[in-house]
Amino acid sequence: MATSLALSLRGRAKVQLLDCDVEEPNDHIFLHAAINQSQPVFLPIPKIDETKCTYCGKCAEVCAYNAIAVMKKKVLVFPELCHGCGACSYLCPESAISEEGKQIGVVETGSSVGVDFIQGKLAVGEIAAPFVIREVKNHIDPAGIVIMDVPPGTSCPVVEAVKDSDFCLLVTEPTPFGLNDLSLAVEVVRKLGITCGVVINRVGVGNEKVERYCNEQGIPILLRIPLDRRIAVFYSKGIPLIQGIPEWRNAFLGLFRDIEEIVTASQVTK
Ligand code: SF4
Ligand code: SF4
Repeated sequence: MATSLALSLRGRAKVQLLDCDVEEPNDHIFLHAAINQSQPVFLPIPKIDETKCTYCGKCAEVCAYNAIAVMKKKVLVFPELCHGCGACSYLCPESAISEEGKQIGVVETGSSVGVDFIQGKLAVGEIAAPFVIREVKNHIDPAGIVIMDVPPGTSCPVVEAVKDSDFCLLVTEPTPFGLNDLSLAVEVVRKLGITCGVVINRVGVGNEKVERYCNEQGIPILLRIPLDRRIAVFYSKGIPLIQGIPEWRNAFLGLFRDIEEIVTASQVTK
């Protein structure tokens, strides 16, 4: 969806595609993007100055991730649990905590014909995906169209990726599994105050419950992609849908027009 949408819009405006699925970014495979820059992402990990520390325990108290333990005469930091939120150093009454960077991934920038491409890559074994996503989003140029490919699910990386967007396109399939994930995702985007629409993929499997749910919830179904072996074959070869079957380009342009209309209407009513 993300790569076909970006490719269908190129030439119309400046288009950026951000691959925020930092645990397994794969848009570059479809875009054959030439990467020309790679920047390391550093997570600020607390470093304790025990000459200043009074072992008051405040840092351990505020850490929501149990990444600090304070003993009688020792403070232990567990870098692999730290999310780099900075709360401990901010709240230490003795200013005994400084921060040192630990590389947890990279942000790569490049381009594919007519599309500016940015992707984040979280290093193996690291957990702070939202931190890398934030760095990817720092490359957003609001003057153009920005499409973000977001990881599946509803956890912290999803929230970090979708927050502050104008619109969230939820891609699902007409199965009980698809409906379950869709309803959770709808709850999240509604909590974040983001307008959403749905794309139903693999139409032809499963049942009508996703359609019914969308109608009941007043969520527009903006595109239906049929269960088509050709699409799966192109996908497995790393060929975007609109390049494998060019007739789909118009459907993606129509999809974007619908999104623009919904976003404009929702901004008027806000
Ligand atoms: S909050 Fe500061 S002074 Fe208190 S235990 Fe932690 S590092 Fe030491
Ligand atoms: S920076 Fe945040 S997550 Fe890391 S140890 Fe301090 S409070 Fe915990």
